[in-house]
Amino acid sequence: MSTAFENARQQLAAAARVLKLDSQLHSQLEYPDRVIKVAIPLRRDDGRIEVFEGFRSQYNNARGPYKGGIRYHPAVNEDEVKALSFWMAMKCAVVGLPLGGGKGGIIVDPKKLSVAELERLSRGYIRSLYKYLGPDQDIPAPDVYTTPQVMAWMLDEYETITGHHAPGMITGKPLSLGGSAGRSFSTAQGGVYVLTEAAKKLGFEPAKTTVAIQGFGNAGAHMAKLLAHLGYIIVALSDSQGGIYIPAGIDPLEAERLKNSEQGLAGYAGSKKITNEELLALPVDILVPAALENQITAANADAVKAKLIVELANGPTTPEADAVLFKKGIVVAPDILANAGGVTVSYFEQAQNASNYYWSEAEVLEKLKKIMVEAFDSVWEKKEKYAVDLRTAAFVLAVERVAEAMKARGN
Ligand code: GLU
Repeated sequence: MSTAFENARQQLAAAARVLKLDSQLHSQLEYPDRVIKVAIPLRRDDGRIEVFEGFRSQYNNARGPYKGGIRYHPAVNEDEVKALSFWMAMKCAVVGLPLGGGKGGIIVDPKKLSVAELERLSRGYIRSLYKYLGPDQDIPAPDVYTTPQVMAWMLDEYETITGHHAPGMITGKPLSLGGSAGRSFSTAQGGVYVLTEAAKKLGFEPAKTTVAIQGFGNAGAHMAKLLAHLGYIIVALSDSQGGIYIPAGIDPLEAERLKNSEQGLAGYAGSKKITNEELLALPVDILVPAALENQITAANADAVKAKLIVELANGPTTPEADAVLFKKGIVVAPDILANAGGVTVSYFEQAQNASNYYWSEAEVLEKLKKIMVEAFDSVWEKKEKYAVDLRTAAFVLAVERVAEAMKARGN
């Protein structure tokens, strides 16, 4: 199977073809500006020193400072952070934020570290990389297995080293350190706004619409709760251990309680146990991948029965799978549109930090909704104009905007 970055380049190439993009701009967009690779020594609780590899990929900053999360996962690698940073640059452009794209990660299984070790590792990441970070330079945020607490340690380390407050150097912070109202569920909330617009186009009514969600982390769990609240029937959920299926509907709050208990999701009464693979092929109306990349592939795309896919994960669908889904008439609301709510509220967080004046949750959500609906409409317009799928349409919009900034700079 092709790597995440190979997939990213194929997506870029598809947009470049539609746009008849200048070949020099195209080749510039095929590379990150830089990938910084660091070795982070961590003193384990037993006194041993263990070294962890970390990355920060700074892809493109034509529209503004590099922006994107930091992932803690055993499968992190250079190819993946490059892809994720490219998608950040594209995502910020789709929703019209004055930000570029970056992404970081550490190759680590955070579940195997104590809280104190996690803190030392997070501080170590900043000690290795602080020179490249800052509110006008590169702004990290949470991603897979990183939390507001991790952001708090990173902010504290950065401010300790630089000797001044700089809350806008990182987003997704706890509210007590300048976080934004609404940021904790903003990725899912943005996804809900996109899903609602797509559902209107497809004529779905919440109470008659079934949903399967792959992944029960920050994005997936909030998505389940928000959609259930709107009346959608959540019939399947999963995490890295596997999934559960109940055609009559799952209560996401009960699922969350079980996930945080010894029993795990599998303890849900009356549920059928399913694999992550089986979840993707369920007879549902809407499928929400909210875990990792490369889940819907050439090998299983034909088995997908959903009519709409809303990508909360980054890169869950390969280009080969996209072609199959398109042929089957399945509408895919692509990651760089559907999960852009997270970085949009990160941008609001930075704006609040810069003015040291904080907004209510209602204000945040009103502004978020406006941006997401406008982005959806712009992407839909491109789809109609060029007769392409929504993903290509989103990349066309993004590449056009990034290329315009690059040209204006004379790049
Ligand atoms: N990690 C999130 C994403 O992939 C949020 C990034 C951010 O807020 O900078 O979009």
